[in-house]
Amino acid sequence: MVESYETLVEKAYSVLPETAIKEERFLVPKVRGHVQGNTTVISNFLQIADSLGRKPQHFLKYILKELATPGELRKNGVIIGTKMPASRINEKIEKYVEEFVLCKECGKPDTKLLKEGNFVFMKCLACGARHSVNAKI
Ligand SMILES: [Zn+2]
Repeated sequence: MVESYETLVEKAYSVLPETAIKEERFLVPKVRGHVQGNTTVISNFLQIADSLGRKPQHFLKYILKELATPGELRKNGVIIGTKMPASRINEKIEKYVEEFVLCKECGKPDTKLLKEGNFVFMKCLACGARHSVNAKI
């Protein structure tokens, strides 16, 4: 008997544990902001840092270096010293997430940066993996 594709897919799902179905790729938050004169204001920067579980200072330093532009942290967000399309900022945030947030082993975002002597490690709270990262925190 030849099984249809749909039946095969259904079978594959039914044997997977429930958690495997629920898991989705971590969604990197997108910036919200606007251009103001010659600057760009990102209003949800602190929320993004918070949802990534990272300090806004470290996160911002990386983003500014990558964009090669000045900027500063304010109480209500971040001011970038040039006009910057949101897509370029989002690109750098995704890069940061790849490098400093997602576990290299299991791909989950439940990680922490830990300092040990002169080295910084990323420790995964989900699978326990540890990776050294090139960061100053
Ligand atoms: Zn992991």
